[in-house]
Amino acid sequence: MNLGTVHYRLRNDFQLAILTLLGSLTVLSITPFAVYRAIAEEWLAFAMDIGAITGISGGVLHAWRTGDTARPSTFLCYFVGVMAVIASHVLGVVGTYWIYPALIANFFLAPRKHAFITAMLVLTLIMLTGGWHRETLEAASFAVTLVLSVLLTYVFAYRVAEQREELRRLASLDALTGIYNRRELLSELARTQRIIARESRNHGLLILDLDHFKEVNDRFGHLQGDEILVRFARLLEGSLRPLDRLFRFGGEEFVILTQVDDAKTLGAIAEKLRATAEKWLDDGHGSPVTTSIGGTLLRPDESIEQWIARADDALYRAKHAGRNRVVIEAG
Ligand code: GH3
Ligand code: MG
Ligand code: MG
Repeated sequence: MNLGTVHYRLRNDFQLAILTLLGSLTVLSITPFAVYRAIAEEWLAFAMDIGAITGISGGVLHAWRTGDTARPSTFLCYFVGVMAVIASHVLGVVGTYWIYPALIANFFLAPRKHAFITAMLVLTLIMLTGGWHRETLEAASFAVTLVLSVLLTYVFAYRVAEQREELRRLASLDALTGIYNRRELLSELARTQRIIARESRNHGLLILDLDHFKEVNDRFGHLQGDEILVRFARLLEGSLRPLDRLFRFGGEEFVILTQVDDAKTLGAIAEKLRATAEKWLDDGHGSPVTTSIGGTLLRPDESIEQWIARADDALYRAKHAGRNRVVIEAG
């Protein structure tokens, strides 16, 4: 693996980057202590440091080799917990200083549920297995400060996860109409491609394009055009069947991804949508705004680009045949 690949993977795999960052930081901070223990001939503490370094590096290397970050992350979360308990026994009070960053780092590493469970297990085990904390005040301070740190980190991790989810949702929606955007369409098509390869169920793709929409804009203004696009999206949403999915492909073009038995059914669905638009969509001044629709069935042996190109081709023919009509590519 060359430097370019390392750089690429670190930039494109967030979890791998976090795993590598935390792993290297931990290994770098433990190594000087391992050297010190060796010089001081404190072999138990040395063995513990080497164990921690080996386990953490092993987890990170496994992630780099296999590309699987989920399992090494969860493994490291619990491994760090075990090391924390051992450290509290081997190092006494000094070991506790390490427990705080270790248990907090777990929230960056693993799902917060695992990080929380690990923290509570570590606390319980340390309290139960005796050692330095016989003093009640010392034990109470340790327990309370640890629980506080863990709870605050939990709340923080929860908020970050919520915001990430919200960002993901916003990035998949079109700002004007609120329906899914082109980016979401492309990932949905990739998902569909995997489904089609597995099951023999047919899927259809429809591209809908408003007719002479430039004229509508020119006559009534862009804002009115926007308003029509929103109404069109609402109209389509209202006409969809439960498993159909609607996307704004860009401009005044929309896409519907649907599960169908054959091209004839796909044509019937498209015809219903076309008729609905013709009946209900107008330019705000009494004239109908019509739609041309091109459609195709998705073949398992074709690429996503080929699916779109064939639907686009059908749309082109619908436009040339006079607009306000449906053409389904026989395929
Ligand atoms: P055709 O029947 O051949 O599709 O004619 P058309 O005028 O609809 O086609 P063309 O692709 O030439 O023009 C599309 C127009 O859609 C151009 C642009 O003014 C308008 N448009 C694209 N995106 C938006 C948008 O977000 N809001 C508004 N108001 N208009 C848009
Ligand atoms: Mg267009
Ligand atoms: Mg158009």
